Amino acid sequence: PLILGIETSCDETGVGIVRGHDLLANEVASSVEEHVRFGGVVPEVASRAHLEAMLPTLERACATADVDLTEIDAIAVTAGPGLVGALVVGLASAKALAYALNKPLYGVNHLAGHVAVDLLDHGSLPSPCAALLVSGGHTSLLTVEDMASKITELGSTIDDAAGEAYDKVARLIGLPYPGGPHIDRAAVDGDPTAISFPRGLSTNRDLIKHRFDFSFSGLKTAVARWVEERRLAGQDVPVADVAASFQEAVCDVLSAKAMDACRATGATDLLIGGGVAANGRLRALLAERAAENKITLRTPRPALCTDNGAMIAALGAEVVSRGLRPSGLDLGADPGLPVSTIVV
Ligand code: ATP
Ligand code: MG
Ligand code: FE
Repeated sequence: PLILGIETSCDETGVGIVRGHDLLANEVASSVEEHVRFGGVVPEVASRAHLEAMLPTLERACATADVDLTEIDAIAVTAGPGLVGALVVGLASAKALAYALNKPLYGVNHLAGHVAVDLLDHGSLPSPCAALLVSGGHTSLLTVEDMASKITELGSTIDDAAGEAYDKVARLIGLPYPGGPHIDRAAVDGDPTAISFPRGLSTNRDLIKHRFDFSFSGLKTAVARWVEERRLAGQDVPVADVAASFQEAVCDVLSAKAMDACRATGATDLLIGGGVAANGRLRALLAERAAENKITLRTPRPALCTDNGAMIAALGAEVVSRGLRPSGLDLGADPGLPVSTIVV
Protein backbone atom coordinates (compact mmCIF):
# COMPACT_ATOMS: atom_id res chain seq x y z
CA PRO A 1 0.00 0.00 0.00
CA LEU A 2 0.98 3.59 -0.66
CA ILE A 3 1.20 5.52 2.62
CA LEU A 4 1.46 9.26 3.27
CA GLY A 5 3.11 10.25 6.57
CA ILE A 6 2.83 13.66 8.22
CA GLU A 7 5.10 14.79 11.05
CA THR A 8 4.80 18.08 13.00
CA SER A 9 5.73 17.21 16.61
CA CYS A 10 8.48 19.80 17.02
CA ASP A 11 10.11 22.19 14.54
CA GLU A 12 10.25 20.02 11.40
CA THR A 13 7.32 19.86 9.00
CA GLY A 14 7.79 16.45 7.42
CA VAL A 15 5.85 14.73 4.65
CA GLY A 16 6.93 11.28 3.55
CA ILE A 17 5.54 8.80 1.05
CA VAL A 18 6.37 5.09 1.18
CA ARG A 19 5.22 1.90 -0.45
CA GLY A 20 5.90 -0.82 2.12
CA HIS A 21 9.62 -0.48 2.85
CA ASP A 22 10.28 1.61 -0.26
CA LEU A 23 10.91 5.29 0.37
CA LEU A 24 9.41 7.38 -2.44
CA ALA A 25 9.61 10.88 -0.95
CA ASN A 26 10.81 12.54 2.24
CA GLU A 27 10.37 16.31 2.22
CA VAL A 28 11.28 18.26 5.36
CA ALA A 29 10.88 21.97 6.04
CA SER A 30 12.54 23.09 9.28
CA SER A 31 11.85 26.25 11.26
CA VAL A 32 15.07 25.75 13.25
CA GLU A 33 16.58 29.01 11.92
CA GLU A 34 13.71 30.93 13.51
CA HIS A 35 14.50 29.42 16.92
CA VAL A 36 18.29 29.85 16.93
CA ARG A 37 18.29 33.28 18.53
CA PHE A 38 16.08 31.98 21.37
CA GLY A 39 18.39 29.00 21.99
CA GLY A 40 15.49 26.55 21.80
CA VAL A 41 12.20 25.84 20.05
CA VAL A 42 9.52 28.50 20.64
CA PRO A 43 6.21 26.59 20.42
CA GLU A 44 4.09 29.39 18.90
CA VAL A 45 6.72 30.09 16.27
CA ALA A 46 6.91 26.38 15.41
CA SER A 47 3.11 26.10 15.04
CA ARG A 48 2.89 29.04 12.67
CA ALA A 49 5.80 27.70 10.62
CA HIS A 50 4.05 24.31 10.30
CA LEU A 51 0.92 26.06 8.99
CA GLU A 52 2.93 27.91 6.36
CA ALA A 53 5.04 24.92 5.33
CA MET A 54 2.42 22.15 5.24
CA LEU A 55 0.94 22.59 1.76
CA PRO A 56 4.19 23.35 -0.09
CA THR A 57 5.88 20.40 1.64
CA LEU A 58 2.99 18.09 0.74
CA GLU A 59 3.11 19.25 -2.85
CA ARG A 60 6.87 18.68 -3.05
CA ALA A 61 6.51 15.17 -1.62
CA CYS A 62 3.84 14.23 -4.19
CA ALA A 63 5.97 15.66 -7.00
CA THR A 64 9.11 13.81 -5.83
CA ALA A 65 7.26 10.50 -5.47
CA ASP A 66 5.41 11.21 -8.70
CA VAL A 67 2.10 10.25 -7.13
CA ASP A 68 -1.27 11.92 -7.11
CA LEU A 69 -2.97 12.29 -3.73
CA THR A 70 -5.86 10.17 -5.00
CA GLU A 71 -3.46 7.19 -5.30
CA ILE A 72 -2.64 7.24 -1.56
CA ASP A 73 -4.11 4.25 0.33
CA ALA A 74 -3.83 5.59 3.88
CA ILE A 75 -2.59 8.57 5.87
CA ALA A 76 -0.46 8.32 9.01
CA VAL A 77 0.14 11.30 11.25
CA THR A 78 2.10 11.93 14.46
CA ALA A 79 -0.40 12.06 17.35
CA GLY A 80 2.30 12.47 20.03
CA PRO A 81 4.50 12.96 21.92
CA GLY A 82 5.50 16.51 21.11
CA LEU A 83 4.40 20.14 21.37
CA VAL A 84 0.61 20.19 21.44
CA GLY A 85 0.30 23.32 19.26
CA ALA A 86 2.63 21.80 16.68
CA LEU A 87 0.95 18.38 16.71
CA VAL A 88 -2.52 19.86 16.06
CA VAL A 89 -1.37 21.40 12.78
CA GLY A 90 -0.32 17.99 11.45
CA LEU A 91 -3.45 16.34 12.80
CA ALA A 92 -5.76 18.93 11.23
CA SER A 93 -3.97 18.58 7.88
CA ALA A 94 -4.10 14.79 7.98
CA LYS A 95 -7.79 14.77 8.93
CA ALA A 96 -8.65 17.17 6.11
CA LEU A 97 -6.83 14.93 3.63
CA ALA A 98 -8.38 11.73 4.99
CA TYR A 99 -11.85 13.26 4.82
CA ALA A 100 -11.46 14.81 1.37
CA LEU A 101 -9.83 11.70 -0.14
CA ASN A 102 -11.99 9.28 1.86
CA LYS A 103 -8.94 7.32 3.05
CA PRO A 104 -8.21 5.73 6.44
CA LEU A 105 -6.33 7.83 8.99
CA TYR A 106 -3.87 6.47 11.58
CA GLY A 107 -2.58 8.53 14.51
CA VAL A 108 0.84 7.09 15.35
CA ASN A 109 3.62 7.50 17.91
CA HIS A 110 6.54 9.77 17.00
CA LEU A 111 9.05 7.73 19.04
CA ALA A 112 7.96 4.45 17.45
CA GLY A 113 8.43 6.29 14.15
CA HIS A 114 12.08 6.98 15.04
CA VAL A 115 12.46 3.18 15.34
CA ALA A 116 10.31 2.19 12.33
CA VAL A 117 12.22 4.39 9.91
CA ASP A 118 15.03 1.82 9.88
CA LEU A 119 12.75 -0.56 7.95
CA LEU A 120 13.24 1.75 4.94
CA ASP A 121 17.01 1.23 5.08
CA HIS A 122 17.35 -2.34 6.34
CA GLY A 123 14.03 -4.15 5.89
CA SER A 124 12.04 -6.26 8.35
CA LEU A 125 13.12 -6.57 11.97
CA PRO A 126 13.98 -9.82 13.71
CA SER A 127 12.03 -10.40 16.94
CA PRO A 128 12.98 -9.43 19.52
CA CYS A 129 15.10 -6.52 18.39
CA ALA A 130 16.66 -4.14 20.91
CA ALA A 131 16.44 -0.43 20.18
CA LEU A 132 18.28 2.57 21.55
CA LEU A 133 16.13 5.66 21.15
CA VAL A 134 18.18 8.83 21.55
CA SER A 135 16.46 12.07 20.67
CA GLY A 136 15.98 15.65 21.78
CA GLY A 137 13.30 14.82 24.32
CA HIS A 138 13.73 11.11 25.00
CA THR A 139 16.42 8.53 25.76
CA SER A 140 15.36 4.91 26.25
CA LEU A 141 16.28 1.31 25.72
CA LEU A 142 13.47 -0.66 24.11
CA THR A 143 12.63 -4.14 22.97
CA VAL A 144 10.64 -4.29 19.78
CA GLU A 145 8.70 -7.53 19.49
CA ASP A 146 6.38 -6.24 16.81
CA MET A 147 6.82 -2.87 15.13
CA ALA A 148 3.09 -2.21 14.85
CA SER A 149 1.94 -3.58 18.19
CA LYS A 150 4.57 -4.36 20.79
CA ILE A 151 7.34 -2.08 22.04
CA THR A 152 8.48 -2.39 25.67
CA GLU A 153 10.62 0.13 27.50
CA LEU A 154 13.45 -1.47 29.50
CA GLY A 155 14.63 1.84 30.91
CA SER A 156 14.93 5.53 30.16
CA THR A 157 16.62 8.71 31.29
CA ILE A 158 15.77 9.81 34.81
CA ASP A 159 16.56 13.46 33.96
CA ASP A 160 17.82 15.00 30.69
CA ALA A 161 17.58 13.34 27.29
CA ALA A 162 20.84 12.74 25.42
CA GLY A 163 20.00 15.38 22.78
CA GLU A 164 19.07 17.84 25.48
CA ALA A 165 22.49 17.26 27.13
CA TYR A 166 24.22 17.90 23.79
CA ASP A 167 22.22 21.11 23.33
CA LYS A 168 22.91 22.37 26.88
CA VAL A 169 26.63 21.57 26.79
CA ALA A 170 26.94 23.24 23.38
CA ARG A 171 25.55 26.41 24.87
CA LEU A 172 28.05 26.20 27.76
CA ILE A 173 30.98 26.12 25.37
CA GLY A 174 29.59 28.77 23.03
CA LEU A 175 28.32 26.57 20.17
CA PRO A 176 24.99 27.48 18.52
CA TYR A 177 21.61 25.75 18.88
CA PRO A 178 20.89 22.94 18.13
CA GLY A 179 24.15 21.83 19.71
CA GLY A 180 24.27 18.15 18.77
CA PRO A 181 25.65 18.49 15.24
CA HIS A 182 28.03 21.27 16.35
CA ILE A 183 29.52 19.14 19.15
CA ASP A 184 29.73 16.19 16.76
CA ARG A 185 31.85 18.33 14.39
CA ALA A 186 33.93 20.13 17.06
CA ALA A 187 34.79 16.81 18.74
CA VAL A 188 36.53 15.52 15.63
CA ASP A 189 39.51 17.78 16.43
CA GLY A 190 39.43 17.10 20.18
CA ASP A 191 40.91 14.50 22.53
CA PRO A 192 38.14 12.34 24.05
CA THR A 193 40.46 11.41 26.94
CA ALA A 194 41.47 15.01 27.72
CA ILE A 195 38.95 15.36 30.57
CA SER A 196 37.39 12.53 32.54
CA PHE A 197 33.67 13.32 32.83
CA PRO A 198 31.23 11.16 34.84
CA ARG A 199 29.36 8.23 33.29
CA GLY A 200 25.85 8.51 34.76
CA LEU A 201 24.23 5.50 36.51
CA SER A 202 27.17 3.22 35.72
CA THR A 203 28.57 2.23 39.13
CA ASN A 204 27.86 -1.29 40.34
CA ARG A 205 25.44 0.12 42.89
CA ASP A 206 23.58 2.18 40.24
CA LEU A 207 23.32 -0.85 38.03
CA ILE A 208 21.28 -2.79 40.60
CA LYS A 209 18.37 -0.36 40.41
CA HIS A 210 19.07 1.49 37.16
CA ARG A 211 20.59 -1.13 34.86
CA PHE A 212 18.83 0.25 31.75
CA ASP A 213 18.31 3.85 32.87
CA PHE A 214 20.35 6.90 31.97
CA SER A 215 21.22 10.18 33.67
CA PHE A 216 22.89 13.11 31.92
CA SER A 217 22.25 16.04 34.23
CA GLY A 218 25.27 15.27 36.45
CA LEU A 219 27.45 15.17 33.36
CA LYS A 220 26.12 18.53 32.21
CA THR A 221 26.84 20.01 35.66
CA ALA A 222 30.36 18.54 35.62
CA VAL A 223 31.03 20.17 32.24
CA ALA A 224 29.62 23.48 33.51
CA ARG A 225 31.90 23.37 36.59
CA TRP A 226 34.97 22.47 34.58
CA VAL A 227 34.36 25.29 32.08
CA GLU A 228 33.62 27.79 34.86
CA GLU A 229 36.86 26.95 36.69
CA ARG A 230 38.88 27.49 33.53
CA ARG A 231 37.20 30.84 32.91
CA LEU A 232 37.71 31.98 36.53
CA ALA A 233 41.38 31.10 36.21
CA GLY A 234 41.51 33.33 33.12
CA GLN A 235 42.27 30.41 30.82
CA ASP A 236 40.78 29.65 27.41
CA VAL A 237 38.26 26.84 27.15
CA PRO A 238 39.55 24.10 24.82
CA VAL A 239 36.24 23.68 22.97
CA ALA A 240 37.25 20.65 20.90
CA ASP A 241 38.59 18.75 23.93
CA VAL A 242 35.53 19.53 26.07
CA ALA A 243 33.22 18.53 23.18
CA ALA A 244 35.12 15.27 22.58
CA SER A 245 35.36 14.37 26.28
CA PHE A 246 31.69 15.13 26.93
CA GLN A 247 30.66 13.18 23.84
CA GLU A 248 32.79 10.20 24.91
CA ALA A 249 31.04 10.09 28.29
CA VAL A 250 27.60 10.11 26.62
CA CYS A 251 28.44 7.56 23.94
CA ASP A 252 30.29 5.26 26.35
CA VAL A 253 27.24 4.93 28.62
CA LEU A 254 24.73 4.69 25.76
CA SER A 255 26.65 1.93 24.01
CA ALA A 256 27.55 -0.02 27.17
CA LYS A 257 23.92 -0.14 28.30
CA ALA A 258 22.68 -0.94 24.79
CA MET A 259 25.02 -3.96 24.67
CA ASP A 260 23.80 -5.04 28.10
CA ALA A 261 20.18 -4.74 26.89
CA CYS A 262 20.93 -7.08 23.99
CA ARG A 263 22.55 -9.54 26.40
CA ALA A 264 19.59 -9.40 28.79
CA THR A 265 16.89 -9.80 26.13
CA GLY A 266 18.70 -12.21 23.85
CA ALA A 267 18.37 -9.75 20.97
CA THR A 268 20.88 -10.37 18.19
CA ASP A 269 20.10 -7.02 16.55
CA LEU A 270 20.32 -3.49 17.91
CA LEU A 271 18.62 -0.61 16.16
CA ILE A 272 19.28 3.05 16.91
CA GLY A 273 16.92 5.95 16.25
CA GLY A 274 16.29 9.62 17.06
CA GLY A 275 18.35 12.74 16.30
CA VAL A 276 21.39 11.71 18.38
CA ALA A 277 21.57 8.45 16.39
CA ALA A 278 23.03 10.67 13.62
CA ASN A 279 26.09 11.24 15.85
CA GLY A 280 29.35 10.08 14.32
CA ARG A 281 31.04 8.94 17.52
CA LEU A 282 27.95 7.09 18.78
CA ARG A 283 27.70 5.20 15.50
CA ALA A 284 31.41 4.34 15.52
CA LEU A 285 31.55 3.21 19.15
CA LEU A 286 28.38 1.13 18.80
CA ALA A 287 29.74 -0.48 15.64
CA GLU A 288 32.92 -1.43 17.53
CA ARG A 289 31.11 -2.88 20.54
CA ALA A 290 28.41 -4.57 18.45
CA ALA A 291 31.12 -6.36 16.46
CA GLU A 292 32.81 -7.50 19.69
CA ASN A 293 29.49 -8.84 20.98
CA LYS A 294 28.37 -10.37 17.66
CA ILE A 295 25.38 -8.08 17.46
CA THR A 296 24.04 -6.77 14.17
CA LEU A 297 23.84 -2.99 14.35
CA ARG A 298 21.09 -1.25 12.38
CA THR A 299 21.79 2.44 11.85
CA PRO A 300 19.38 4.40 9.66
CA ARG A 301 21.08 6.94 7.38
CA PRO A 302 21.62 10.17 9.37
CA ALA A 303 18.97 12.15 7.45
CA LEU A 304 16.35 9.64 8.64
CA CYS A 305 17.45 9.91 12.30
CA THR A 306 16.25 13.48 12.85
CA ASP A 307 12.53 14.29 12.56
CA ASN A 308 10.94 13.59 9.18
CA GLY A 309 7.73 12.40 7.55
CA ALA A 310 9.15 9.16 6.14
CA MET A 311 9.42 7.69 9.65
CA ILE A 312 5.71 8.27 10.18
CA ALA A 313 4.86 6.82 6.77
CA ALA A 314 7.09 3.79 7.49
CA LEU A 315 5.30 3.14 10.77
CA GLY A 316 1.94 3.73 9.06
CA ALA A 317 2.83 1.09 6.46
CA GLU A 318 3.51 -1.46 9.24
CA VAL A 319 0.24 -0.63 10.97
CA VAL A 320 -1.76 -0.86 7.73
CA SER A 321 -0.15 -4.14 6.67
CA ARG A 322 -1.08 -5.59 10.08
CA GLY A 323 -4.73 -4.66 9.42
CA LEU A 324 -5.10 -2.51 12.54
CA ARG A 325 -8.22 -0.38 12.92
CA PRO A 326 -7.91 3.23 11.70
CA SER A 327 -8.18 6.12 14.17
CA GLY A 328 -11.38 8.17 13.94
CA LEU A 329 -11.55 11.75 12.69
CA ASP A 330 -11.94 12.78 16.35
CA LEU A 331 -8.29 11.77 16.88
CA GLY A 332 -6.55 14.17 19.29
CA ALA A 333 -2.97 15.20 20.07
CA ASP A 334 -1.32 13.54 23.07
CA PRO A 335 1.80 15.51 24.08
CA GLY A 336 2.85 12.79 26.54
CA LEU A 337 2.05 9.66 24.52
CA PRO A 338 4.17 6.75 25.86
CA VAL A 339 6.30 4.81 23.37
CA SER A 340 4.34 1.62 24.10
CA THR A 341 1.20 3.15 22.53
CA ILE A 342 2.12 2.78 18.88
CA VAL A 343 -1.24 3.61 17.30
CA VAL A 344 -3.83 5.83 18.96
P1 ATP B 1 11.74 13.69 20.46
O1 ATP B 1 11.97 12.82 19.28
O2 ATP B 1 12.24 13.12 21.74
O3 ATP B 1 10.33 14.16 20.55
P2 ATP B 1 12.92 15.77 18.89
O4 ATP B 1 12.00 15.24 17.88
O5 ATP B 1 12.99 17.22 19.13
O6 ATP B 1 12.63 15.01 20.28
P3 ATP B 1 14.99 14.71 17.28
O7 ATP B 1 14.65 15.52 16.09
O8 ATP B 1 14.77 13.27 17.19
O9 ATP B 1 14.36 15.28 18.62
O10 ATP B 1 16.49 14.99 17.62
C1 ATP B 1 16.93 16.31 17.85
C2 ATP B 1 18.10 16.21 18.80
O11 ATP B 1 19.14 15.47 18.15
C3 ATP B 1 18.67 17.54 19.19
O12 ATP B 1 18.90 17.54 20.58
C4 ATP B 1 19.99 17.60 18.42
O13 ATP B 1 20.99 18.35 19.05
C5 ATP B 1 20.35 16.14 18.36
N1 ATP B 1 21.24 15.83 17.25
C6 ATP B 1 21.03 15.98 15.92
N2 ATP B 1 22.12 15.63 15.21
C7 ATP B 1 23.05 15.23 16.12
C8 ATP B 1 24.39 14.75 16.03
N3 ATP B 1 25.01 14.63 14.85
N4 ATP B 1 25.05 14.46 17.18
C9 ATP B 1 24.43 14.58 18.37
N5 ATP B 1 23.18 15.04 18.52
C10 ATP B 1 22.49 15.35 17.41
MG1 MG C 1 14.10 19.49 15.30
FE1 FE D 1 12.01 13.27 17.22
